[in-house]
Amino acid sequence: MANHVDYHPALADTELATYCEFGLAHDVFHAPDGRDEPLGLTHAIAGEAMLSYADPGFVCPASMTVGAAIVLDRFGRDDPRIERYVEALTSDDPEAYVEGAMFLTEKQGGSDVGANETTAVETDEEGVYELTGEKWFCSNIDAEGTLALARREGAPEGTKGLSLFVVPHTVSEEGDPRGESEDARLNDQLYRRLKDKLGTLSVPTGEVELRGATGYLVGDPEQGFRYMTEMLNFERLSNAAASVGIIGRCLLEAKVYAADREAFGSTIDQHPLLRRDLTEMATDYEAASAFVFAASRLLDEYRASDDGHESDAFRLLRLLVPIAKLRTARESVDTASYACEVLGGNGYVSGFTTERMLRDAQVLPIWEGTSNVLSLDVLRVLAKQASHEVFVPAVEERLDAAAEHDALAAAAETVRDELADLQTAMATLATEDRDYAQLQAKELANYVYDVFAAAELLDMASEDLAAGDGRRVLVAREFVTRQFGRESGRGIASGDRTAMDQFDAIVRYGSVAPEELEGAASAPADD
Ligand SMILES: Cc1cc2nc3c(=O)[nH]c(=O)nc-3n(C[C@H](O)[C@H](O)[C@H](O)COP(=O)(O)OP(=O)(O)OC[C@H]3O[C@@H](n4cnc5c(N)ncnc54)[C@H](O)[C@@H]3O)c2cc1C
Repeated sequence: MANHVDYHPALADTELATYCEFGLAHDVFHAPDGRDEPLGLTHAIAGEAMLSYADPGFVCPASMTVGAAIVLDRFGRDDPRIERYVEALTSDDPEAYVEGAMFLTEKQGGSDVGANETTAVETDEEGVYELTGEKWFCSNIDAEGTLALARREGAPEGTKGLSLFVVPHTVSEEGDPRGESEDARLNDQLYRRLKDKLGTLSVPTGEVELRGATGYLVGDPEQGFRYMTEMLNFERLSNAAASVGIIGRCLLEAKVYAADREAFGSTIDQHPLLRRDLTEMATDYEAASAFVFAASRLLDEYRASDDGHESDAFRLLRLLVPIAKLRTARESVDTASYACEVLGGNGYVSGFTTERMLRDAQVLPIWEGTSNVLSLDVLRVLAKQASHEVFVPAVEERLDAAAEHDALAAAAETVRDELADLQTAMATLATEDRDYAQLQAKELANYVYDVFAAAELLDMASEDLAAGDGRRVLVAREFVTRQFGRESGRGIASGDRTAMDQFDAIVRYGSVAPEELEGAASAPADD
């Protein structure tokens, strides 16, 4: 059958659980039962992180459904035809919801979207176009709420000349987003083949030939790429949420296995080196979660603000989002790879979850912008949005809160020193030549991540302390020590035994009373 994708039947259950029971897209835009207000994008980001514990691949269609709704809700509501897609994308009704997708990448341009060659020719009907071209990577290929970029006749080259269209799987006179009306027919496109991928098998990714496919223009034809960037911010953060889920699941698998498996006379989680591994994984997981959810709250703040791109929330999130995506994606691959090793030979074998997590993780640094492309974006944001002007006070505010607690003061001071060095690095790259700035861009992005994640963890630890819980102090201090506190000789002679002494607290969420903290946290070696 033409343009038909066969799905595993269990995916229908995943869809219902995600869109209809959890209301992943619905509750972002409409108040759920028992609430007066919609829950915002943080609801979707949290849902995606949890979903990724089970199936990172399905985070892709879920995030594109919310992402397409963000764009169409904001820029397409004036057109009743597009309004119907907004309603369907944000529906939690099993009989009415549809999913989203985005067809940007062409053979000659994934990172370089401005190289897109797909053309759009207006029909007799205003706002309805025929699209012709080839889209090279199309995930959730048969979605009804698909967004695609194309160039109208005479439009300029590059991203400026791209317009945004809804290009549904089916079209009908009535404009029925589910394609269930009697006159519904397949759109004029050919799903040439599905890619034979390493992972994320729950989402079909294919090649599509648009052969005069019907496309409904969204908003101003000159603003297509700008509209897409609103979706991209969310997609990149969703990617980071998927990474958090993979890191969390791999940590869980590693912890459970290590608590059960015996070697050399004890369970393997009794051995110092494995305690260190698990402590590092747990700390990375909490840092990644802290960073991603801080960025997610900014996204909601920006959407609620009247100042749009001028708002402090937007300027800060534009810096943090590409960095969140870049760093957590790489960590998801590294963590999944190491979790395989913790499970020994079994970790490499199909059926033990770590193997699937590793295959699924590997796409996260690639799609939604590779690490290099995101690093260049960070340079662009610093130059155009001057985001450092809001970043520095945001870090200082967090460090000031932490410094009020004796247990956090030294770590806060360490991060304050690093912030000063980071500002010097930013200023240097702003004045250096383009090639040199690019050479250092990924270093800079990772430095921003470490400083902001440390400050956020310290701030969260200070809130927990005020509430009588000292555990996160240990996590925050461990993160700071690992990122910035290395003593000479790589710390090998430092006497630091945190991973042994605080293993239960950090890795097994053992409770720590604030008064226990001082001596317990940094006990020097006594043997
Ligand atoms: C499974 C899967 C599903 C996908 N689904 C979709 C989808 O649904 N919709 C969609 O539109 N796209 C999708 N993509 C495409 C994806 O977004 C692109 O593959 C990705 O953006 C990279 O683009 P590219 O493949 O053209 O690589 P290229 O842009 O050719 O990059 C190749 C390498 O060059 C590096 N590079 C490029 N420019 C620079 C530079 N200036 N400086 C330094 N290094 C640079 C990159 O970092 C990368 O390492 C999917 C990809 C995969 C693998």
